[in-house]
Amino acid sequence: MSDIHGNHEALSAVLADADREGARGTLCLGDVVGYGADPEPCADLLGERGAMIVAGNHEHGALGLMSLRWFNPAARAAAVWTGKRLPEALRVSLSSLPLSLVVEDATVVHASPRRPGEWEYVVTAQDGFEVFGDFGTPLCFLGHTHRPGIWAIGSGGSEHRDRFPAWPVEITLEEGSRYLINVGSVGQPRDGDPRAGYAVWDLDARTVTLRRVPYDHRSAAARIRAAGLPRVLASRLASGA
Ligand code: ZN
Repeated sequence: MSDIHGNHEALSAVLADADREGARGTLCLGDVVGYGADPEPCADLLGERGAMIVAGNHEHGALGLMSLRWFNPAARAAAVWTGKRLPEALRVSLSSLPLSLVVEDATVVHASPRRPGEWEYVVTAQDGFEVFGDFGTPLCFLGHTHRPGIWAIGSGGSEHRDRFPAWPVEITLEEGSRYLINVGSVGQPRDGDPRAGYAVWDLDARTVTLRRVPYDHRSAAARIRAAGLPRVLASRLASGA
């Protein structure tokens, strides 16, 4: 999962769905905090599950590890708000997150396997195919754009998909093929679908399934407004845009 963004309602719904799917571990691709009203409860939920987590730009922004110059005004305000609310122990654990991990046969990053600390956006078909030389594993998971997407290179050629008429979307991982998979966003989807997005990676069946989970986005939006965060961060949850 990726881009939880302090949305406790969405994270709880996704974890319940993952439990029903029989998930045995949690991999988080960063941006646990920022935008939403509940950064600490989200980090706690992941901590309780022993999640493996890589850093996102919103961790670095809230902790003062990067300039907020590249953040838009609402994101900047949220990063400052979040930074003031992170307890010291959580600051320490978030600031020690790696920028990338290799788990089984997958590379795990927040933004891009190419210079992960530069937070480049992998959006188009070309963006994705360009970075296949930047990871050595058959599989790479990323987030950051808040839009699910699949890039695949195999003996039969290459394929990119970022429009999905129906969910869930199951990808069979073929032997000898390589995949770049954007798992979407738990807490602030931006593909026009307000449901929380994440993926189930089944190591035995060799599949990755992109899933969407409805959650109480009205409550999450009310929490954002009550916290005094920029109101646009609340209203966008209803449209998923
Ligand atoms: Zn994000």
